[in-house]
This record gives sequence, C-alpha cells and structure tokens, in this order.
Amino acid sequence: MSATLAALIGVVAPQWSVTVFESAADVAGESSGPWNNAGTGHAALCELNYTPAGPDGRVDPSKAVTINEQFQVSRQFWSHLVRSGMTGSPKSFVTPVPHLSFITGEDGRAYMRARHEALAAQPLFAGLEYTEDAARLAEWLPLMMAGRDPGQQVAATRSAAGTDVNFGALTRLMLDDAAERGVPVHCNQRVQDVERDTDGRWIVTVRDTVTDERRTVRTRFVFVGAGGGALPLLQRAGIPEIAGFGGFPVSGRFLRTTSPELVSGHQAKVYGQAAVGAPPMSVPHLDLRLIDGDHSLMFGPYAGFSPKFLKAGSMFDLPLSVRPNNLGSMIGVARTEVALTRYLIRELMQSGADRHQTLAHFVPEAEERDWDMVTAGQRVQVIKRDPATGRGVLQFGTELVVGGDGTIAGLLGASPGASTAVSAMLGLLERCFPDRMPAWRPALQEAIPSYGHRLSEEPALLAQVRADTMQVLELNG
Ligand SMILES: Cc1cc2nc3c(=O)[nH]c(=O)nc-3n(C[C@H](O)[C@H](O)[C@H](O)COP(=O)(O)OP(=O)(O)OC[C@H]3O[C@@H](n4cnc5c(N)ncnc54)[C@H](O)[C@@H]3O)c2cc1C
Repeated sequence: MSATLAALIGVVAPQWSVTVFESAADVAGESSGPWNNAGTGHAALCELNYTPAGPDGRVDPSKAVTINEQFQVSRQFWSHLVRSGMTGSPKSFVTPVPHLSFITGEDGRAYMRARHEALAAQPLFAGLEYTEDAARLAEWLPLMMAGRDPGQQVAATRSAAGTDVNFGALTRLMLDDAAERGVPVHCNQRVQDVERDTDGRWIVTVRDTVTDERRTVRTRFVFVGAGGGALPLLQRAGIPEIAGFGGFPVSGRFLRTTSPELVSGHQAKVYGQAAVGAPPMSVPHLDLRLIDGDHSLMFGPYAGFSPKFLKAGSMFDLPLSVRPNNLGSMIGVARTEVALTRYLIRELMQSGADRHQTLAHFVPEAEERDWDMVTAGQRVQVIKRDPATGRGVLQFGTELVVGGDGTIAGLLGASPGASTAVSAMLGLLERCFPDRMPAWRPALQEAIPSYGHRLSEEPALLAQVRADTMQVLELNG
C-alpha cells in the first residue's frame, strides 16, 4: 500500500518530498511477501463470496463488477509504471493463470448456473466458460478430477483472464523505482510514535532497530501503511476517528507442494465454497503459484490464531490494542460472532489427517508426503462500531481511516487486499487532498485511462484498456 501511494504521488506531485520507513530489514516481508498471501489477482473471476445468491436463487453481480473494475485500475497503473521505465519484466510480478470456481452437489450446480448467467451478461466477465461435464473438467483440472467419484455432481466456471501476482516483487520494484526518483526508503526503522504538533504538522518518532537510535521527522502528511501494525499507530496518533476500531488477527496456513508432476496437473487457481458459518477469507482454494521463476501449488487457507498483528509482531499486540474506546466493540463482536469462534476452534483442533481430508476434497489422490505446511501472513480483521446500532461488528474488507483534517490516514483490514491497492490509494488521495484533485486528474487519467469512468458501462474503453494492459503486462501467455 505504501509503495503504491509513493508511486501515485510520483505521478501527481513528483516535487513532493516523500520518505518511507520500514521496520524490517527488508521491504515486503509481511502480508505482501509472496508466501504470505495467495497471490491471486482478485478480479472476482472465481471468488464465490463476491457473488452472493438472494433468497430467490438469483445472483447479484454488483460486488463482483466493482472488484473487477478495481483490478482493471491496478492493471492500468502497473502498465503505466512499466511503460514509464519501472525496471524488471512484468513477468516477474504478474503471470496469466486461469481462474476457476469449482463446486459439488445439486445445490452447488444450481448456484453456479445462476452465477454464470449473472456474470456472463457483464462485459467485464466476457469469455467466462461454464461446464458440468466431467470430461471437460478433466481437461481443465486434471489433478482435481483424477480419482474423483464419477457419481459426484460437479460444476465449474473458467476464466482465461485470471492472474497470479507476486505482490512482494511488485512492492520491491515500485520502491526501487521510487528510490531512483529520490524517495528515501529506510529499512530497520520502526515508527514508534506519531504525534501532532501545535502548528498542525506531525512529529513521527522513528527508532533504528539495529542501533536503537531515535530520531524525529516533522511532516505535513502521514500515511500509516503498516499493514497489521496500522491500528496501534493510529491509536498512538490519538485521532478521534480511530475510536471504536479494534483488530482481530487470524493467521493463514497453506499446504504447499513443489512436485513437478502435481504442478503440471494443475495450471490454474481454483476457488471453492466456504463451509457453513465460516468467514469469507476461509474459502478453500488450490493455486498455481509462480514465484521467482519456480512453480508450486498452494492449498488452503487453514486458519490459525496468534495475538500478533504482524508475523514479526508481539504476543501483546492484541491485548495492548484494547482501549476503553473499543472495548465495547470488541466484546460485542465476541458475543455476536459465534460462528467465527466455532470455525476458529474447529480449525485449531484439526489434526494433520483432518487437514489432509480437506485437501482430498480438491485433490482426491493427494498423498500427505507431497505437501508441507507453510505459515502465511497475519490478517487483522477490522472490528468497528456500527453507527446505526452502536454495537461492534466484524468486517472482512478494508477500511481507510482518515483523521487530522485529512493530514493522516491509515489502512486497516486485508481484503480484497493487494489486488485493489491502487483503488484504495486513489481513495486516499481523494479523501485527503480533495482541493488538489482537479489539478491532479489529468495526470491520473493519463496513467489510468479508466479513472473517473465505470468500465462496466463503457465497453469500448474496456476493450481498449484490456488490450493495452494485456500487451504491456505480457499477459498473452
Ligand atoms: C493469508 C493471506 C492471503 C492473502 N491473499 C491475498 C491474495 O490472494 N490476493 C490479494 O490481493 N491479497 C491477499 N491478501 C491480502 C494482502 O496480502 C494484503 O492486503 C496486502 O499485502 C497488505 O499490504 P500492506 O502494505 O497494507 O501491508 P504489509 O504488506 O503487511 O506491509 C506493511 C509493512 O509495514 C511494516 N511495518 C509495520 N509496522 C511498522 C512500524 N511501526 N514502523 C515501520 N514499518 C512498519 C511491516 O514490516 C510491513 O513491511 C492476503 C493476506 C493474507 C494474510
């Protein structure tokens, strides 16, 4: 998120002085690191949680359309960076990988037909294929269909427009590019405090994690792009807008295989359906990953619990984040989110054999010995006070918190995450710098031709954007 914002500022206000502080020894070691997330370029091509069915069985495509439009914004901005000379081949961070949704059972089939009908009518989802035919599925998904009960009812959609994204590599390229433009990127520098001075500027206290030296930096604007570390820093800034917000950390674990035989049988990302009562981020998926030139498969996520807000965080992160102003929200959520609590307990109690059983729903012939468990990043789910009821609610999306009359902002939450970082940071520019937007709009529209437009309503612009980004990002295969 911080790298994206630095890149956007490079487009609209290249004369601004920007400094990035990173607490770790290197950038992109937390959620954006390639093994810490699933690398799905979320465009709602396969994630069933973006296409809920109503009581009449009809599927509402609106959320999927919005996510897809946001991903097109990311593609355009990445293309702009590549065209403007960001070093490295686009292949090092984005690769075409078909996205499929896969479902079993008669109810599942009925839902998938309704979903396909709703999406196929949308220009953004043109080319989405549907099948209930096991032979066709065996062509699309050899690994998943081998050894499957022939009597099982199956259905799937497939989009060739899907991608696998190495968000770690992308972060690194964007920050290298920013550094070349004169943006200092300081590693091993932990932001410890953010405090407002009497003249309205912010005093940021930074500690060198190697030498323990402290220094302060005065600035007109602060973006707290600290991932899981954003909540405590926004609390320290003391802005009233953070009152009522809390965080609930859930860690993700994945089974991973690098077996060439298994990888060659699964050249896709396949999303299934979350178990009843399970939260959206628990949707099981089997992903082809392309990281630093190596191919592997990842299956998960299996949820874990740790009170840390970052992988490299502290066991006290969660308890120390509880304040009088968010205690009510936290208790409210603990009371109402019984299904989530049950889901987490169930996940934590799972044995290796249970986990293998879950994998076997996707890969019937999976052998335990081929798969290793890897621990991915921490997701700090947002807890906030519902203004209507005053009660705490758990939210699975992201939330931009803006305070100090637009002089400080921070991003909480994790979904749809890195894929829509450009839209999230454009939202930040619009909220924090509304007076400058008229002057910035032409530069933004040059970098992101669909900026200010809805691609779902402008097929000609969509066709142009699609063709252009496909060529620049080398997504033709
Ligand atoms: C299991 C899992 C799967 C996911 N799958 C996907 C996916 O398939 N597709 C997708 O688009 N998104 C996915 N996401 C979400 C995505 O990874 C995140 O939304 C995104 O990486 C967040 O980026 P960020 O810059 O906000 O945070 P991060 O990448 O976590 O970066 C925050 C940085 O701030 C640093 N920091 C923290 N505190 C301080 C401090 N006090 N001082 C200085 N530096 C600090 C950290 O060290 C870190 O480098 C997934 C997330 C998880 C956990």
